[in-house]
Amino acid sequence: MKVKAFPLFLLVLSLSLTFTSDMNAADDDQQSDDDNERMILYKEMDGITHVPWYWLAAIDAHERGLNVARDDRDENDRLIDIYYSPRDWVGALNPDLEDNDAERISIFGGVGLDGDDDGKANRQDDRDVLYTMARQISTYGYDDENIRIGLWDHYQRDQAVRIISGHAKLFKAYQTIALDDSAFPVPLEYNYSYNSTWGDTRGWGGRRIHEGTDIFAGHSTPVLATKYGVVELKGWNTYGGWRVGIRDPENVYHYYAHLSSFADGIEEGAIVEPGMEIGKVGSSGYGKPGTEGKFPPHLHYGLYRDNGYSEWSFDPYPSLNSWEKKDRQK
Ligand SMILES: [Zn+2]
Repeated sequence: MKVKAFPLFLLVLSLSLTFTSDMNAADDDQQSDDDNERMILYKEMDGITHVPWYWLAAIDAHERGLNVARDDRDENDRLIDIYYSPRDWVGALNPDLEDNDAERISIFGGVGLDGDDDGKANRQDDRDVLYTMARQISTYGYDDENIRIGLWDHYQRDQAVRIISGHAKLFKAYQTIALDDSAFPVPLEYNYSYNSTWGDTRGWGGRRIHEGTDIFAGHSTPVLATKYGVVELKGWNTYGGWRVGIRDPENVYHYYAHLSSFADGIEEGAIVEPGMEIGKVGSSGYGKPGTEGKFPPHLHYGLYRDNGYSEWSFDPYPSLNSWEKKDRQK
């Protein structure tokens, strides 16, 4: 059952690192190599457990996002980021927190399972961890609805189930996990301007600090999706006006506010791609639904990260800058 592809993969990788002077290109190569290796693992476990690979990929993507947002998890060099605490893995009364004996873990009621038939349930082994998760979430069945129930059992959080379901939808639709293209949220040929104003105490956000970057542009300038994602929220908010929230496969939530209109097909649950028009710049907000014109037209663009408990805003300015540069090179 073990795939012995790693030594060759490492050799190819080290050769490509040796001959690549451009570190960005090397990072991208590393990223796609990792994604390829992950896909092999997801599909292998799909074959063994009958849990569709895109659900396993979605859970892993969600956990990778959590690992970025948190510092209470031990570091690992694994490809798979699904995390079990040592205590959950080995069982509540197990005296050995590092136990990896599958039979003993089972006796102590730990969740850890042996996914590669070596008698070990190793918390640091990608196959064991993926297999354990696949078994847990398929307790009720293998169709999407039952997997969602299994996910709720595991995470006990609606938002986690929602985020993972969105990732699964994307991966299934595109049949890949390599969805990291980007676009600047306004077409570069339009007139626009923006400054780094995240964290300012004033602004048109209506919050304690300004949780975003304002991109000033003419009324009705197209607003584009910046990443692949699933629409999580759409509608009116007193401060944000007509706004839309989109979750990307890295768990990051993209918030677009003060729109004058939404593009056709932008509905909750819809899939968007980088560069796809999602609406038009406006000056909506600061009043009852439909209020316009209380400030100059602009796109308020916010980014939020989920840490498994709550969402927190981070500065979109560096991302906007890099997406703008990439678009210029297209
Ligand atoms: Zn703003």
